[in-house]
Amino acid sequence: MNVHSAGQVQKLTVIAPATGDVIAEIEETPVHEVPLFYQKGKEAFIVWSSLSLSERMAYFKKLKQLMVDEMDQIARTISDDTGKVLTEAIVADIMPTLDAIDHIIKHAEKVLRRQKVKTPLLLLGKKSFIEYMPRGVVLVISPWNYPLQLAMVPMISALAGGNTVILKPSEVTPLVGKCIEDLFKRAGFPEGTFQVAHGGKEVGAAFTAGKPDYIFFTGSVRTGKIIQQQAAKDLIPTTLELGGKDPMIVFGDANLERAAKAASWGAFTNSGQVCMSAERLYVERTVYDQFLEMLKKEVNSLKQGTDENADVGSMTFPAQKSVVKEQLDEALERGARLETGLMPFEWQEGMFLPLTVVTNVEQNMKIIQEETFGPLLPVVPFDNESEAVSFANGTVFGLNASIWTKDKQKARRVASKLVSGAVVINDVIITVANHGLPFGGTKESGIGRYHAEGGLRIFCHEKAIMEDLGLMNAEIQWYPYKGKYPLFLNLFKSYFSDKRDWLSFAKNYLALLRSNK
Ligand code: NAD
Repeated sequence: MNVHSAGQVQKLTVIAPATGDVIAEIEETPVHEVPLFYQKGKEAFIVWSSLSLSERMAYFKKLKQLMVDEMDQIARTISDDTGKVLTEAIVADIMPTLDAIDHIIKHAEKVLRRQKVKTPLLLLGKKSFIEYMPRGVVLVISPWNYPLQLAMVPMISALAGGNTVILKPSEVTPLVGKCIEDLFKRAGFPEGTFQVAHGGKEVGAAFTAGKPDYIFFTGSVRTGKIIQQQAAKDLIPTTLELGGKDPMIVFGDANLERAAKAASWGAFTNSGQVCMSAERLYVERTVYDQFLEMLKKEVNSLKQGTDENADVGSMTFPAQKSVVKEQLDEALERGARLETGLMPFEWQEGMFLPLTVVTNVEQNMKIIQEETFGPLLPVVPFDNESEAVSFANGTVFGLNASIWTKDKQKARRVASKLVSGAVVINDVIITVANHGLPFGGTKESGIGRYHAEGGLRIFCHEKAIMEDLGLMNAEIQWYPYKGKYPLFLNLFKSYFSDKRDWLSFAKNYLALLRSNK
């Protein structure tokens, strides 16, 4: 992607990373239009928020059908814009989005309707409810690695509750941003309910400063911190879905063949540009040599390319190549060994990087401590369970993790010790594909969760409501207090003691009621 001016209008030039071809030009949103976007969003909110859930879901159904009808074209747009292979576009970007739409159509009514909750006996005669009220205009800022899913899922989660949405998709994959805009438009969503602002970080910053009612951000830790600071100035609530450095822990008793295939897929799918990819592989020393050989065999069998049968596509974002190179250089300088791939000076031009497995690395190297977001996998042996846990927890990140063993008890024990937003046992990454599970990070991997029930409710004010029929002229705790203290003392003692004294409770309660007259 390049940015240039054509007259007054800035344009984003879309370059397919896998081929280097210019494939489109997209007009950038001028920052002076930010107030106009918010005004339109607020106006549309009045009507959209007053629709019933089933009326809103009718638009969701149209959107879903449109995506099903045009699945192949959407997959090709994603593939062209990111360099990922078609299979990954359809499996990991389109499928989770469709499944999220389905999930919301099925569950939104139940999750967002007024919920009755229990009222304690001390508050006799009242009823309690929770209501979910949409917040207003939600700003969604999304990254380039899964440009459809990571933009559309927060969008539809916010829209379901009655919010309107402004999306600022990544400038690295603007073609997918345009595709999303087009899909919502053609699904017939009313004007202003969704708006797409195209452009880079200046556009993102201008929209963040434009006082949205909620910010849902997915991207790097660095940008997440900038956004959180800006949001704090106006006390704007946020969800931050940030980076990861996910550990994969393979115990000696695991199904090693499955684990080796999983490590190769978990580390190199989407060319390693996955917030939840396996970025550190810890293998029990008893099977380390054997496992390394199995892993190398798997990795060496992968086919990189652009055709329909290729396994691994290109990198998406040119700047990311130098991050991978820097980490590999540092590791090699400090004694790491290449098991697959090439030395960085042997790398070819272009966006395909060698699929690289590295051993002999130390816990304090960048390759272990910093997010790579590229096809680079360090492998480290461990001696026992507690060492594996301590290695796994030893970074500032905590997004996802995987544990490989046939011992269910051990797997669950280790899972509960990992400081991580999600843990997968005998599989990798996959928690994100169950929309019924919450998704999000611990530590610097983020703040908040989405997906599941919470993923719809975060976009709403959670409003507590209590109802009283209003028949009594006064409540017992209201003024005047004269003579009430000993009655309350006895009432609470009888109520809260381990063995409730119902007689004393009733006597004191009635006395309090009478004292109001
Ligand atoms: P990024 O932070 O560079 O950009 C993300 C988005 O923020 C883009 O749309 C960008 O234009 C915008 N942006 C940049 N600076 C901004 C600013 N100052 N104000 C407002 N908006 C701004 O991240 P990226 O390179 O696009 O994505 C890769 C990162 O995203 C990785 O760290 C990855 O781990 C993370 N990620 C996290 C998840 C998750 O769910 N936890 C998922 C995917 C990617």
